[in-house]
Amino acid sequence: RRNWRDGTLSFDESRRRIAEASQWLAGGVSSNFRLGISPTPLVLDHGDGAYLFDADGNRLIDYYLGMGPMILGHTPQDVRTAVEAQLAKGILFGGQSAIEAEAARLVCEMVPCAERIRFNSSGSEAVQTALRLARAATGRRVVVKFEGHYHGWFDNILWSTTPPADATGPVPGSRGQILDNGIDIAVLPWNDLAVLRERLAQGDVAMVIMEAAMCNQGAIHPLPGYLEGVREACTKTGTILVFDEVITGFRVSPGGIQKRLGVTPDLATFAKAIANGFPVAAIAGRADLMELMANGVMHGGTYNGQAVAMAATVATLRRLQDPATFAALETRGTRLMQGIQAAFDRAGIVATVTGFPEIFHVAIGLTEPARNWAELRRMDRPRYIAFTTALLRHGVRALERGAWFLSTEHDDAVIDATLDAVGRAVQEI
Ligand code: PLP
Repeated sequence: RRNWRDGTLSFDESRRRIAEASQWLAGGVSSNFRLGISPTPLVLDHGDGAYLFDADGNRLIDYYLGMGPMILGHTPQDVRTAVEAQLAKGILFGGQSAIEAEAARLVCEMVPCAERIRFNSSGSEAVQTALRLARAATGRRVVVKFEGHYHGWFDNILWSTTPPADATGPVPGSRGQILDNGIDIAVLPWNDLAVLRERLAQGDVAMVIMEAAMCNQGAIHPLPGYLEGVREACTKTGTILVFDEVITGFRVSPGGIQKRLGVTPDLATFAKAIANGFPVAAIAGRADLMELMANGVMHGGTYNGQAVAMAATVATLRRLQDPATFAALETRGTRLMQGIQAAFDRAGIVATVTGFPEIFHVAIGLTEPARNWAELRRMDRPRYIAFTTALLRHGVRALERGAWFLSTEHDDAVIDATLDAVGRAVQEI
């Protein structure tokens, strides 16, 4: 291992291989979220628990965790065993399997809103299923979403995920996005009940979709009473309430944010932590809505419920059902959050650490926790990127947008090493 304590890890081999792969892969990557990372997108070789090993031979403590899924770390033995056993039995049947029914049963047992579930392969697809169900159930067109919330990369929902301060209407997230889709979208500030109530009173909204704790940008709790108020307003106006739990599901509690905060939506979408890295997503919710899929609402997908991915799902959910799993995440995550806040305080750098022990966010330049996107966007991004770049040279990989994901493999020794690196990195920015 090279000398991470001096902050001298180099990433030249990653840089070289990204340049080489760019001859074949557009931009050298397969997701735009991997573009433009400082000092270079990494080329990873293998993972082990809390660690990733890259093409330069660096061992990195990983807080990306695959953008959230790897809640049991990179190489959990129980998931591997289940997957290997299923591989020997078959991969994809184009039909139902017992392992898929078992995965569905576990989700229904763990998640409050889940009377029925269907599997998808990505969170973006699960969100599309919710859109279609809500419009079919209500006969209405308009979808309410919130500034700063991300619900996948498809045309009809990739709106105002990081809008500028002077935005006057829905802001598309991509070139080439069909702008007509924005007609059916109403974008509102989150955590503001009066604004939502007023919009719902118009009576044309099919569904309200939100990250019930805003975790794509920031890790922001709903204000006290906000979710309860949203729930009541949706019920009163016959609007379908959807919690997008792609990040929070099976991560902030075994039953997601709805279980942790005690507010039950009509539908919820899941992905990421549900299968510890396998491409599994789900939509779950009220039986009467979900059964519309057996009654004229189309939902398809060749890979939905793929048997190996279902074996991973069952093994992952069984671990997450064990109270010891979340007890450890809570204790260690809390210590890490407090340690990071203390490091910034000691260095005299204004920063706030917010969120949950399992997924939290560090915002440099904010004196108070942000309550919505308009407040969060004032964080000092260039300085934060300088921080994550310094951290990487000290052997810790954390997302440039400020999020930190935790796994069960981040034990006390890993957290000590992380806080050591954080202390050094804050001195360098
Ligand atoms: N919804 C939320 C809240 C997400 O965080 C994401 C992905 O980051 C998605 C939807 C889209 O999921 P996927 O990337 O699996 O399509």
